Parts: sequence; structure tokens; C-alpha cells
Amino acid sequence: MEVEIKTPIWTGDVDQKSEFLQSTGIVGSLRWWTEAILRSIDKYACDPTGDGRCPDEKGNEKYYCSACLIFGATGIRRMFKLDVNGGKHVFTGSALNIKPSGRNKGWYLGSGVVGKINLKITSLDRDFDESLILLPLIIASNWGGIGAKTQHGYGVIKIEDCPRIDFTSFREAIEKVTNQERLSKLRIKLRYGSNNELPDLREMFFAKIQFEAENGWWRNVDGIASRSNDPRILAWIDSGSVPIVPAVKNWLRYGGGTKLWKTTNQNQNERIENWLFGTTEKICSSCYGRVRKNKSDPRNFWCPNCNRPIRREETFERIASKINVSCAYPVSDNLWEFRIWGWIPKNKLSEELKFNREDFLTNLKQALSGSGHVTFPWSRLLGDQTKNHKLRVWREFKPSEDAIKPSENNVDNYVQSLLEEE
Ligand SMILES: [Zn+2]
Ligand SMILES: [Zn+2]
Repeated sequence: MEVEIKTPIWTGDVDQKSEFLQSTGIVGSLRWWTEAILRSIDKYACDPTGDGRCPDEKGNEKYYCSACLIFGATGIRRMFKLDVNGGKHVFTGSALNIKPSGRNKGWYLGSGVVGKINLKITSLDRDFDESLILLPLIIASNWGGIGAKTQHGYGVIKIEDCPRIDFTSFREAIEKVTNQERLSKLRIKLRYGSNNELPDLREMFFAKIQFEAENGWWRNVDGIASRSNDPRILAWIDSGSVPIVPAVKNWLRYGGGTKLWKTTNQNQNERIENWLFGTTEKICSSCYGRVRKNKSDPRNFWCPNCNRPIRREETFERIASKINVSCAYPVSDNLWEFRIWGWIPKNKLSEELKFNREDFLTNLKQALSGSGHVTFPWSRLLGDQTKNHKLRVWREFKPSEDAIKPSENNVDNYVQSLLEEE
């Protein structure tokens, strides 16, 4: 399958020196998408990065979730092999640092891989069906991204001659994988559990924004303007996309965009900010506030918000952003597009933070469509050589908000509609 990379795919620091794109990062993100899809149809999928990952062992029995049955886990092998060929690095050397107005630290953007790549899926199990991999791949390519660091704009792809897949075939393939008889032969059992707090397609949103731009518009993007002669920037532009993420995120997180998510409670806001946009600071895992060193116990920490000592295991080293912004990529002469998408959970923590998820999404949608009390200052962020910015499409599993099928409340049909690019 030929894939055109629209915005660089992040290959990980380890692979920076390697000439080739490794399949591990791609498989890892396909697994993430598969889990979100499985959970949206109420199938259990464990968090493979957490302590609760499969297998769950009870006596002599080993229990695995459907995602592990496909992607493998300790004790069972992956049902397929993915070979990735082609692609080349955008630039060599250290990461670019882009500092939009008002920022001291800025965003670090390392090289990724661009060009055309070939993906080859090989079955390693007679019960494997390609739709298990194709379906998440198509949804990721239509609406999100693949590989790591999608929050920094990496990983938008376009599948050439995209095969047609029906959600029913994915459902059937899952039934086959989790078939009782098959599992008995493997001497394992299907694991059930709670998907709470884990990514679910029903809690995700996807937006595509388009604008018209004159040649060389990128030179005026906030944060790029000051370094438009940097050979790494030039190489990035040459590779076909524009790193607008720092400009857009800077506004959302620190600028006028804060009005979209800030509450009236100042104490909550820093925690909401960390939760929504991610952080590399050490934070408390129960309230998402920043922790301090505990003076009386230097190995551990103190959470000023919870007002109690916090053990090292109760902290997060870093949290990923729940909001992804892609680089801008061209769709036709002078017409450009980018994506804002993410997973905004309706979980315990968002309730505790008094973060109003529905209000935030409504505010964001209105700001993008230019109809809200806050609107994106596009010419300041993307430069005055861009115009006619518009929200082309907004997707969310919420019957009244979903543009394409307003009366849709059935998950299967929603997923099916995400497979058919509008
Ligand atoms: Zn599992
Ligand atoms: Zn705390």
C-alpha cells in the first residue's frame, strides 16, 4: 500500500540516526487507534503502557483483551507483520526551536520522515483479517495522524488507492479473533474490564480548517518569521508542510484562546492547563497540579493543592497533550489545510477539575468557525498572506453537533462515516 506523507512522521529519538522509518512507532499508534475504536463499541482494551496490561493472570488462566490478541503481549504473538519502506529525513542535526511571540522556551521540533512510503501487511495467523489494521489506519489518515508526537503536528498521511473497508467487516474480524473455540485452542481467555479513563473514539473530536495563501506565506507565521532563513525550516517547507503548531498552540494555551477553557476558578486553571495541553513538569497524579520537593523527605514530593506529601509513584513525569494540531499542508494550488483533533475524556478528573468538556468543545468549534465570542486571530498567527480561513468540517460523536449526519446516534454508523472521507 502506497502512502504519501503529508506532514513528517516522527520516528523517535532513537531512530534519528537511522536512515529508515521503523515500523514500531507506526504499529504503536495503530494500536492506540484500534484501542479507541474497540472501546467505542464497548470492547475492553487494556492500556499496554500501564501496570494493568495483559495478561491478567488468575490461577492457571491467562486473560487477554481484544487489542492484545491482535497486537500481541507477553505470551501471545502479534497476528501480523508490518513492513515499512521508503521515506527520508526532513533534515539532519538538532531540533528546531520555534518561539512564537511571548514565549521564552518555545517548541522543539525534530526532524521526521517525509516522502512516499510503502506499507506491507503480512498475516501471521490464519484468523487475521486485514481490516483489523486497515480500519484504524484509514481513520487515522482521514482525521488524525500516525506515529508519535501528533500533538506537535507530525504524522498526517494520505493512503493512495485507499481500499474500501466496511465497519461490519472489522466487527466480524474482531469476533473471529475473540472466538471462544480459537481462544480455547490457544489456552487463553478473553479479558473483560473497565475502559474508564482510557481513549475512546466516542470522546474524540476532529476538525479540519482550510485557508487560502499566497506563495511564501509561511515566512510570516508567528515564531517562524524570525528564523525564515534557517536551513532546517527551509528543508521542512521544501518537504511540503508548514509547522504552524507553535503559533496555534501558543494562542490556545497562553493567548486569547485561554478564554475557551479557563474557568472562573484560578486554582483549577493551572491543573486544567496541564491536563489539556500536557506538560513535562512533575505533577501530582491525583489533581494534576505541580508538585514541589518535600523538604522533610527529599526523595518524595509535596502537592500544595492536595496539601499532602506525594510519593514518587504518585507523580507523572510528563503527560501528553489531549489536543493535537497538525502542520499545514496543501490540498490544491494556494489552498491549505490543517487539523485540530483530540481526545477530551468525560472522566472523573475532568469532573473534579470542574472542566466543562461540552462548553470547551462548543467554544472551540465556534472560535474556528468565526461565530463565537472568541475567534482565532488568523492573520496574526498565520500571517497576513493567508485569508478566507474556515472550519471545513467538525466531527464529534454527539448527534446534534455532527455535521455530516446530524441524526446519527449509532456508533457503527458514525465509525463508518469516518471511513468515508467527506
Ligand atoms: Zn490487553
Ligand atoms: Zn495534588
